[in-house]
Amino acid sequence: MKDQTFEIKVGDLLNQVAVDEMTFENKKTNLIPNLNEDWISGKIRLSWIDDENVLVEIEELECALNETCDYCTKPFKRKIEIQWYSSRFTLNKEEINYANDEVLFFIDEKTATINIEEMIYQAVELETPFVLYCPDCAKKHENMAEDEIDESDFDLGWEWWNIVFHK
Ligand SMILES: [Zn+2]
Repeated sequence: MKDQTFEIKVGDLLNQVAVDEMTFENKKTNLIPNLNEDWISGKIRLSWIDDENVLVEIEELECALNETCDYCTKPFKRKIEIQWYSSRFTLNKEEINYANDEVLFFIDEKTATINIEEMIYQAVELETPFVLYCPDCAKKHENMAEDEIDESDFDLGWEWWNIVFHK
């Protein structure tokens, strides 16, 4: 894999049953502009599926993002660790017509290379919670949620249930 690109040659892999593994570190991507200076690191395994398809597995992907807390607006660093994420890369352009949930990428036919930048972006994007809490606010929020479950919500639920039951 060249230094600041995410391109990998897969020509050899399409012609034979084989597995190829590599590691990467200090990779930057413009797709994730708030990437912390530790950048991205991880392992990649490429596996032959058939003459037109390669399975790409990313393991132990690590990075940190510079975020702003949605609650207190303080900046904080959000560490992301992804144990495993996989996608299939194919030469077959007609595959795009199939309606299924599989995330599919294409192999560049002319150069026999794949670009895993978009795949890494998607893996990281999936780890983004609906609301971003800094560690302090996350703790507060957890405590709040526990209190609610222990007392008010539970009691309210029972009373309400009883009313409905007796109607
Ligand atoms: Zn906060």
